[in-house]
Amino acid sequence: MKQSKIGQRKTTQREAISAVIRQAEGPLTVEEISERASKLVASLGLATVYRTVKLLLESNEISIVSIPHSHDRYEASDLAHHHHFRCRNCRLVFDLPGCILPIPDGTSLPGGYKVEAHEVTLIGTCPECNGG
Ligand SMILES: [Zn+2]
Ligand SMILES: [Zn+2]
Repeated sequence: MKQSKIGQRKTTQREAISAVIRQAEGPLTVEEISERASKLVASLGLATVYRTVKLLLESNEISIVSIPHSHDRYEASDLAHHHHFRCRNCRLVFDLPGCILPIPDGTSLPGGYKVEAHEVTLIGTCPECNGG
């Protein structure tokens, strides 16, 4: 009985962190995950968030997203191909659905460069910040 209670409590923290990542507007830093998840689970320390993020990475539930001028960010691994938009003002990073780059994987570029994938980060201001 006691053991299942402890197990349940761990699952709740992990589920809260997983839910925060899934429901976000884009990839989150550990600090952002911690801030949001602590509203769902009482007394959630930053160390626990770091540990849980590491576990979720190891189980391939989430992946690392590198955004220029930002700490590492994390998003669900099963998202369809998309690009990111970083707001200069509020510094949030948003997912932009779909692909706007007309260079399919497998394209050969002049000079012998073979494209396997791409990552795009657009920079500007989000609707909240530019009043749009
Ligand atoms: Zn903004
Ligand atoms: Zn793309």
